[in-house]
Amino acid sequence: MRTPVVAGNWKMYKTVTEARHMVSEMVPGLQGIKGVEKVLCPPFTALLAVSALLEGTDIGLGAQNMHWDNAGAYTGEVSPLMVAEICQYIILGHSERRMYFMETDTNVKRKIQAALVHGLTPIVCVGETLEENETGRTREVVSRQIKQGLVDLSFEEEGLSGFNVIIAYEPVWAIGTGRAATAEGANAVIARIVRPALAELFGQNGAQSIRVLYGGSVNSGNAAEFFAQPDIDGALVGGASLKVGEFIQITQSAAL
Ligand code: PEP
Repeated sequence: MRTPVVAGNWKMYKTVTEARHMVSEMVPGLQGIKGVEKVLCPPFTALLAVSALLEGTDIGLGAQNMHWDNAGAYTGEVSPLMVAEICQYIILGHSERRMYFMETDTNVKRKIQAALVHGLTPIVCVGETLEENETGRTREVVSRQIKQGLVDLSFEEEGLSGFNVIIAYEPVWAIGTGRAATAEGANAVIARIVRPALAELFGQNGAQSIRVLYGGSVNSGNAAEFFAQPDIDGALVGGASLKVGEFIQITQSAAL
């Protein structure tokens, strides 16, 4: 049994004041939902304020990116040590970071390793662009992102357990477009491409224990269809995670 996860990726939205308001409204609704791992991922500036509001709740906190080194002369960056002081989760390799900030598979891998060393659960995003999809390259791209991102993680080495990784399959053409994948289509990619790639690295048991989320235009109207699929273990939600009622309803659908 894999516990479902619903994580909200706020991207570059919400000031500290706005974040406080939204989280205060959201917490009572989210708190009542059992059987789902709930995670909020605000921008860096709002992490501390949100962390204070989540204290004593069963709602986790995540950041959206970090460097892999503990400290150094990297102006503008935030280290795993800093993130782990406040958060339990970290989104890594989001397509917007790969696209706009030249994030490579190698750097994503460094970050995943750093996250695990610091006890953070990485939510690793993978997914093909529209062009890659249309030219039949989904398998090649998604397998590469998984294998290059997670290679060298060993279950034996304490603190470097691939079991603690969460994968988010997010077809790039579905992110923020209102054009979600079909639930069956997303499930097929996860069952036929994501889990087999994980099995090559971690064996069948590993591949079956790792949670794999779907992300891309999930909303309260389509969430239940995704969660009804056997290989989809929750969602990484962007736009709809900024709407209190929507995010609560999506999370509720994962509990059913
Ligand atoms: C995301 O940012 O990871 C995402 C899936 O965005 P949206 O839900 O807005 O498509």
